[in-house]
Amino acid sequence: MSKRAACSAIDRRSFILGSLSGLALLGTGTLALSGCSQANSSTEKDVTLPPLPYREDALEPYISKRTIEFHYGKHHRAYVEKTNKLIEGSQLEDLPLQSIITETFGSPEKADIFNNAAQSWNHDFYWRSLDPDGGEPQGEIKERIDADFGSYDNFKKEFLKAATGQFGSGWAWLVLDGNKLKVTNTPNAENPLVHGQVPLLTADVWEHAYYLDYQNRRNEYIQAVIDHLLNWKFASLNLVRV
Ligand code: MN
Repeated sequence: MSKRAACSAIDRRSFILGSLSGLALLGTGTLALSGCSQANSSTEKDVTLPPLPYREDALEPYISKRTIEFHYGKHHRAYVEKTNKLIEGSQLEDLPLQSIITETFGSPEKADIFNNAAQSWNHDFYWRSLDPDGGEPQGEIKERIDADFGSYDNFKKEFLKAATGQFGSGWAWLVLDGNKLKVTNTPNAENPLVHGQVPLLTADVWEHAYYLDYQNRRNEYIQAVIDHLLNWKFASLNLVRV
């Protein structure tokens, strides 16, 4: 049994014992839990494939179930599995995913790790940037968009331009840069974390994100995302966390 598995087994046992035996054992349970806190943190730091936040067909008709099956089930999964394989036994294994990304960015010998780690993070962020009931921004984020882009319509134009203007594979982002909202794009696996910006929303513009549904018509895919799927609640949460 690995250290992590053993620790998690102890936690479960302590929890069950504590629950069954009442107050007398709560102290023991607490001790066992704190004794495992470091290993627990490692468990949290594992690079994992997070569950999709909605059903695979939830984004239809704008993004098909078939696209999600491949994009989430094959592409995203492969990035996660490859990252874990590449960092196994190295010091990077104990770092949170965001630190693996910032630590390896720009290092030619660690490019493979960076690409897979960043793609793991980017895809998780992308799924949460989409909402089957996507609407328009409300409240503070709406005010910030109006202040920094002039209007929501202008934001939409800039986001479409950044997404369609990214040559080859990459990502379009809404970020907080200093105290200002900005639209940016990044090539391949690169993301705003390595530029000290706070990502608020993203759209994947790799061909695998839209080719089954839209073939070469990236602009139609992005327009559908902007008009129907952007998750403004998620963007607001990211803004509040800053
Ligand atoms: Mn992708």
